[in-house]
Amino acid sequence: MSARRLEGKPLVERRKAALRDDVATLTKMGQAPRLAVVLATEDEAAVAYARAKQRAGEALGMMVEIVRFEHPTTESLVDKVDALGRDGLVDGILIETPVSSGIDLRAVQDAIPDAKDVDGAGTLAMGHLVRGVATFVPATAAAVMALLDGYDVEISGRHAVVVGRSLVVGRPLIQLLLARDATVTVCHSRTRDLAAMTKTADILCVAVGSPRFLSGTMVKPGAVVIDVGTTVVDGKLVGDVDFDAVASVAEAVSPVPGGVGPLTTIMLLENVVRAARLQRQERAER
Ligand code: NAP
Repeated sequence: MSARRLEGKPLVERRKAALRDDVATLTKMGQAPRLAVVLATEDEAAVAYARAKQRAGEALGMMVEIVRFEHPTTESLVDKVDALGRDGLVDGILIETPVSSGIDLRAVQDAIPDAKDVDGAGTLAMGHLVRGVATFVPATAAAVMALLDGYDVEISGRHAVVVGRSLVVGRPLIQLLLARDATVTVCHSRTRDLAAMTKTADILCVAVGSPRFLSGTMVKPGAVVIDVGTTVVDGKLVGDVDFDAVASVAEAVSPVPGGVGPLTTIMLLENVVRAARLQRQERAER
């Protein structure tokens, strides 16, 4: 048996069409939705991701400004984020990670006003997520849910195992799965006998950052496996899942590249449009 490939691209195309219409409507009403991406690092991957967001947003008619810092300090970043927060022309703010060492990322993210925190990175946004009332869900976790929903994977009542507990991926994903009535188990680097856990999963989401970490023997026959991992190996993007081995056991597997990744940017841009709409509504009501 070979598993279904859960490709992100077809879902992206459908979402893009709706997003393009929303952007056009907001533009006609005054201004295209505008995202500020704060880039406070020389990290090549972060620079590339910031540019990719800019290209994707601009292709849909949005304005995406990269605010680059050569010699960032926590104070200068907080000041800039504060100014962007007060700027009525900016709808959304995102801090590209990783930031340079020595920067207090939490302080910078918490300087983003809640209404503009389109990556759901601040403490307040995370609190909203735990309460189940989030306006902006972190994009990667939202992309995993969009992939599951896009392929009609049943979530309620099933056992979801999330490997990885980072603030960016694992933790928000746990909350989203829980909010959809999955029974959720979270695993991490201190988990004893990881395979015993992963083998009980109906839905297995892996966000570790270790190439081909998940083997076929770690998966229950018929499981749905979502690979969030992306590591560059010899110039190629490699996931956390040993795709061929897992595909011979699972019912469905998302590939890397081409699964969660393409959806992540679109989920972020959807958040920017939502932020633009909400802020304009609020201004109109004042
Ligand atoms: P991270 O902050 O490094 O977190 C990795 C998580 O994996 C940690 O919770 C860690 O446990 C756990 N882990 C490490 N080794 C393990 C092991 N041997 N067994 C079980 N768990 C283990 O990484 P991240 O930011 O969450 O990213 C994870 C992966 O997703 C990376 O490859 C990243 O590039 C990718 N990613 C992809 C997208 C996308 O759009 N597709 C977006 C974001 C990230 P501890 O907490 O105990 O250390």
